[in-house]
Amino acid sequence: MSKSIVLLPGDGIGPEVVGEAVKVIGALKSRHGLDAEMRHAPIGGSAYDETGEPLPERTLELCREADAILLGAVGGRKWDAIDYPLRPEQGLLALRSKLELFANLRPAIAYARLSPASSLHPRLVAGLDLMIVRELTGGIYFGEPRGIREEDGERIGFNTLVYSESEIERIARKAFKVAAKRRCRVCSVDKANVLESSRLWRETVGRVGRDFMNCELTHMYVDNAAMQLVREPKQFDVIVTGNMFGDILSDIAAQLTGSIGMLPSASLGKRSQGLYEPIHGSAPDIAGQDKANPLAAILSVAMLLRHSLDEPDLADRVQSAVARVIEQGCRTSDIYRGDGKRVGTREMGDAVVTALVE
Ligand code: NAD
Repeated sequence: MSKSIVLLPGDGIGPEVVGEAVKVIGALKSRHGLDAEMRHAPIGGSAYDETGEPLPERTLELCREADAILLGAVGGRKWDAIDYPLRPEQGLLALRSKLELFANLRPAIAYARLSPASSLHPRLVAGLDLMIVRELTGGIYFGEPRGIREEDGERIGFNTLVYSESEIERIARKAFKVAAKRRCRVCSVDKANVLESSRLWRETVGRVGRDFMNCELTHMYVDNAAMQLVREPKQFDVIVTGNMFGDILSDIAAQLTGSIGMLPSASLGKRSQGLYEPIHGSAPDIAGQDKANPLAAILSVAMLLRHSLDEPDLADRVQSAVARVIEQGCRTSDIYRGDGKRVGTREMGDAVVTALVE
């Protein structure tokens, strides 16, 4: 049965990078047997301009019905002055929360030829391929009570780190399923030597792990995990962790790879449906100039194929095509270091389409 993909190009460079991703999906349809339909819908600032809302009801409806959603980016100076609830970014936050996308997957892949762009020694990052699975809708960012109160003449700020067994269980299951499609190794990161919520986290992940005996499970304290990520990042396959630890560790991991224009992400919920997007924003400084790197959006298509459309071979094909154009020396400005050929957004997309068939 044909799968449905909703495209949400959004603002700034969003439509440019999604345009290149669409070329890749088109080539997979015409030449490699992908059976999928694409529909466009507005989100963010452009949706606000069109309808007065950053997440129009019709867009939400289409997303609910879709097998997968591919988003470009939202936001820009044009909408900075409008009321907070109508800001472009609120459309994206509302979409994630309405679809209950509780698992955020952020791969960090360092291509050997681009490793000089990393802040670590190329030897440590060349060939890096790790995945951080971050719990996205619970933990200390959402726990109650929270606030700032007055006590004994001074102000006290407080938040609550709370996780239920069911919240831990569902993110752990997601992480093991992701690992099963990779190198079958999960490292669960917590602070169980200090925090009760982490003790429950560790126990629960361990219990879920017994359902995935083909996967190896290890545990690591978060302070050590941060150190290991910059000491020897290639030791990891999948890291699963809570909301705040994941927020911090995923930015460390992204930095290891050198360029924001290369990194895709996925946000997944209970169903196989997911929202796929580059981690970068709308980059208003380069929008409309054919300068944006479309590879993060194209690699988001690879994640979409793997996690929502159950097409691992096509996902591999897209990832190999990206690796090939990097090897061939195609470089958008953000990854150009004086070697190879400097290309624009469209030329980079065309190169990936060509490399798909090789
Ligand atoms: P940004 O990621 O848009 O840009 C940061 C820098 O990276 C800029 O110099 C930009 O030119 C460069 N860059 C980003 N993507 C690139 C690409 N694909 N190729 C080449 N260079 C690239 O972050 P920002 O400038 O802080 O934010 C700009 C707007 O994007 C803001 O309105 C912000 O709210 C929004 N934003 C949206 C998302 C999202 O849609 N998920 C995420 C982050 C920021």
